[in-house]
Amino acid sequence: QRPADNAAPQAEEGPLYDASFETLPGFEELRFIRATGEALGIANPFFRPHEGRAGALSRIEGREVINFASYDYLGLNGHPQVSGAAREAMELYGTSVSASRVVAGERPIHRALEARLAALHGAEDAVVFVSGHAANVTTIGSLLGPDDVVFHDALIHNSVIVGAELARATRRSFPHNDFAALERMLASERASSPASARTRRALIVVEGLYSMDGDTPDLARLVALKQRFGAWLMVDEAHSVGVLGAKGRGIAEQAGLDPALVDIWMGTLSKSLASCGGYIAGPQALIDVLKTSAPGFVYSVGLPPAAAGAALAALDVLEREGERVAALRANSRHFLDAVQAAGFATGTAEGHAIIPVMVGDSLKAVLLSERLLAHGVNALPIIHPAVPHRSSRLRFFITAAHQRAQLDETVRLLTEAFDESSRFLAELGLGGEVDGE
Ligand code: PMP
Repeated sequence: QRPADNAAPQAEEGPLYDASFETLPGFEELRFIRATGEALGIANPFFRPHEGRAGALSRIEGREVINFASYDYLGLNGHPQVSGAAREAMELYGTSVSASRVVAGERPIHRALEARLAALHGAEDAVVFVSGHAANVTTIGSLLGPDDVVFHDALIHNSVIVGAELARATRRSFPHNDFAALERMLASERASSPASARTRRALIVVEGLYSMDGDTPDLARLVALKQRFGAWLMVDEAHSVGVLGAKGRGIAEQAGLDPALVDIWMGTLSKSLASCGGYIAGPQALIDVLKTSAPGFVYSVGLPPAAAGAALAALDVLEREGERVAALRANSRHFLDAVQAAGFATGTAEGHAIIPVMVGDSLKAVLLSERLLAHGVNALPIIHPAVPHRSSRLRFFITAAHQRAQLDETVRLLTEAFDESSRFLAELGLGGEVDGE
């Protein structure tokens, strides 16, 4: 049938492209993962519903299980003083501050929290954002520009990469904790810049404790490098506040270094501090600039009062109950030793709250997590692309609230679940070797 001469070409030839969201690559991958899970009868381990407060114990599918999937390192989520402070702040200020603090104005609780966070890091001042992710993106995205360069550890959090890309800065990733490689990169970068371009800014970004591997960087070495090459040093303490150092003040305390040697401290309120929000602590000029030019602060709502109240109270408890940090350290060490004694590989984990149990293949990691849940333990698999191919793992977040008996029981159940998963995959003829290279 001949189309009318005046028909729109689109009507004649159909749409130029398929606009369905189902054609997105992310959806394709999801479909494949779901189909594989269904074919093998393995449930999706992600988005598991928790039916109450998830701490060292949690209720999943109506059963109480030992939980290793919470960043509540100090066991402060639901602590009466923390919840009470959140309620009080909400009663006083309501549930929202409705707009950016620039226009909607300050609540004294914001500045009180910022003063405490600054003190925690021995910094002049601090500023809080609605999340840790937002803090990294908007800080790096607004401090740097296309003429600048960001050097970051290969395992750095996504928010740092998004921030560097937003800044359109040159991004150079160095192998995990390989400071000789970083030194070579800094030297070649500086050598290739003409003297007139020495104002080009360089930012080195690392984490205080790495969330996939549970290891730490050599802070003294980083300080020496940043001083020698005239770079800024930024440390993301999302996982190290409340965890490292005798008082839980983070990696500077642990390393016995003056925190003022680090230019930019970043942290989140969502993990040890049992709240929600992110922050930057550092010199006054840095904080002043961020408060007037970082879009994620200027154009985004202030922290909800309840979140600020909870974090402030959590800082009080952290200071007053130093035994929580000690309990976390002892539990972490105990679990690391026990899991290694049972024959499991734990990569480069140092025994600070985050302990990966290396499995290798993604399918086996997912299956192991499912078998373990059936035995009453919740620990999530970390699979490609979050980690490289063949380095999938089960990740255990240890908290101060775990009991020794729970940790020992978990290692016993892990051994059983591991054998069961190996047998299951062997029967399928997979042997757990389905990951690509
Ligand atoms: N940095 C690191 C190292 C993190 O692990 C996370 C969150 N997992 C963030 C930043 C982001 O923090 P938030 O969850 O508060 O957005």
